[in-house]
Amino acid sequence: MKYVLGAKCVKCGKEYAAVPHLTTCSCGGILDIVYDYGAIRRDFSPKTLAGNRDWSMWRYRPFLPVEEGSPAPPLRVGWSPLYKADRLAHALGLRTLYIKDDGLNPTASLKDRASSLAVVKAMEAGASTIACSSTGNAASSLAGNAAAAGLESYIFVPSRAPKGKVAQLQIFGAHVISVDGSYEDTFELSKASIFRWGWYNRNAAINPYLSEGKKTVTLEILEQLGWQVPDYIALSVGDGCTIAGAWKGLKDLYAAGFIDRLPRLISVQAEGCCPLNRALQTGKPWTPMEENTLADSIAVGVPRNPDKALRALEESGGMAINVSDREILDAMTLLGRTQGVFGEPAGVTGTAGVKRALEQGRIPADATVVSIVTGNGLKDVQSGIKAAGEPMVVRPDMEALLAAFAAHGIDPKERMI
Ligand SMILES: *Cc1c(COP(=O)(O)O)cnc(C)c1O
Ligand SMILES: [Zn+2]
Repeated sequence: MKYVLGAKCVKCGKEYAAVPHLTTCSCGGILDIVYDYGAIRRDFSPKTLAGNRDWSMWRYRPFLPVEEGSPAPPLRVGWSPLYKADRLAHALGLRTLYIKDDGLNPTASLKDRASSLAVVKAMEAGASTIACSSTGNAASSLAGNAAAAGLESYIFVPSRAPKGKVAQLQIFGAHVISVDGSYEDTFELSKASIFRWGWYNRNAAINPYLSEGKKTVTLEILEQLGWQVPDYIALSVGDGCTIAGAWKGLKDLYAAGFIDRLPRLISVQAEGCCPLNRALQTGKPWTPMEENTLADSIAVGVPRNPDKALRALEESGGMAINVSDREILDAMTLLGRTQGVFGEPAGVTGTAGVKRALEQGRIPADATVVSIVTGNGLKDVQSGIKAAGEPMVVRPDMEALLAAFAAHGIDPKERMI
């Protein structure tokens, strides 16, 4: 790997060679991949990137910890759209808002970025089988990306995982283990099984390469913004790997001279499960919480990557915002109605947090904010219906339709604009 110097523990600083089967430090700390930014700077710039026709996360190869000869996996992951969300900005009273719709990845969540990288590392390790535990999206993305690359997968999910995500697993041919317990229980069983059978480990926070895949979301955002740095980037937080990855991407760009300042991160969690935000807000070490929210993807009572996540928030001068399930459901319809973007509950939690932060005056109305929608709403139709309700039902005749319009206060007259 031309640009990778090695890996370094975020807790004790111990250094490791970047072998494919890398896990955590002997001290229990999580590793960070270290690059030779001088070499990246020499070979790679916004200009060379502008000529690159690879419209996927693999356009950032010099920033990714893979061997030069390793082919990119078959599924197209990344280069999701960044929408200038003027209608939503107006509704929120914010000057400039962008929505990064990562629900448009092949298995419909940001987790595809990590799984794509995991598949390459598994191939480099010569593994035929790859495994993880997940609240749902890491699972479905691993199953899809593994299937496309011809790898077998073993996936552990808590039994509460939404049906849409479990259906994805089944369709992609994964060995699915639905664990009758919490995410914490699910994680522990997967860990024991991975140890027992020696599968390639795609557990976030254990495998340090995964957040390197996730960081491509911020590499893209900045390229899509023409390297103009926004003031804030908001995203939902569960284990903390996504926000840590997002921060790593920004720091990489800064170190390689692509950007000249760094944005502040907004960590958004559900009120009913916010151990990381609570730690940030109280200045005390994090402690476990119940997993009490309908945003299943971030219902993580025992976060797996607290050190990296909290460090990212500290370094960025970031802020912690908690939102209720009601606010999350409202953000679903708000994004849908103003921008045509349908996110799952955890997918829109970042946007709910932007709304709350504006209401509380924690971010100024003239700021430039990017909100990442991390997962697609079709994964969890139940919550979509909870947010938006059932449609009107009519008999198939005009009288019934008129009566229904009247009953719902709808004026169907065409308004020329
Ligand atoms: C996994 C996930 C998150 C949070 O990522 P963490 O790394 O667990 O913090 C947010 N939104 C969605 C849709 C996810 O699947
Ligand atoms: Zn260590």
